[in-house]
Amino acid sequence: MRTKIVAGNWKMNNDLKASKSLAKKIVKSIKKTALKNIRVIIAPTFVNLERVAKKTKGTKVEVAAQNMHFEKSGAFTGEVSAEMIKAVGSKIVILGHSERRQYFGETDEILVKKVNAALANKMEVIFCFGEILEDRKENNHFKVVESQLKNGLFHLKAKDFKNIILAYEPVWAIGTGETASPEQAQEMHAFIRKILTDNYDEYTAESISILYGGSVKPANAKEIFSKQDVDGGLIGGAALNKDAFKAIIDAI
Ligand code: PEP
Repeated sequence: MRTKIVAGNWKMNNDLKASKSLAKKIVKSIKKTALKNIRVIIAPTFVNLERVAKKTKGTKVEVAAQNMHFEKSGAFTGEVSAEMIKAVGSKIVILGHSERRQYFGETDEILVKKVNAALANKMEVIFCFGEILEDRKENNHFKVVESQLKNGLFHLKAKDFKNIILAYEPVWAIGTGETASPEQAQEMHAFIRKILTDNYDEYTAESISILYGGSVKPANAKEIFSKQDVDGGLIGGAALNKDAFKAIIDAI
């Protein structure tokens, strides 16, 4: 059975006080919830990672970083390494988010190095990918997704995929209030499993968790999560509100 996951990407939101408070509220809100085969992950900014990791230690909430550099240490001003993330209590990292690709020039080549560094450090990667609106309008979305996966991940061995969580996030649906329809999400997730089967094997394709991301809200979560190949969500805006986030967890 595949693991279901609800992951909240806080992006550049919440100062220390707000981060600790939201983490505490999320921990409390799911304390009595039976989370059978469901993981809950939150990703605060780097500066708040350690405090949030401390607040959530020993609870049902796991903590992820939103980015990472591929080098161990050195003259990389403003960057943070896998070792540093692990040292403050997180073993999960979001890589390849469309905002990183779009605003910070993150290429497939850079992502390969980041993925490799994360796995070498025994971290889990939430690997994001997805087409822009133009790709979808021109019916290129399958090709684009296939190439992002091939270029960013398919150098890995099948066994490495146990530490990869995929997050399909059509860029046109991120923070726009526009969601892919449950059918569009299912169609893409099934396609992703097919290319994993073709390039690896059925076991790899069937055991990996594939999250959908893009304006998931309490009102649409249940329908999206009901689709056979959707194993949960990567949540942006709605993850900043404990009631909305809890309602999304409940929808899985
Ligand atoms: C995201 O940034 O990963 C995301 C899905 O954002 P939102 O839910 O706000 O669209």
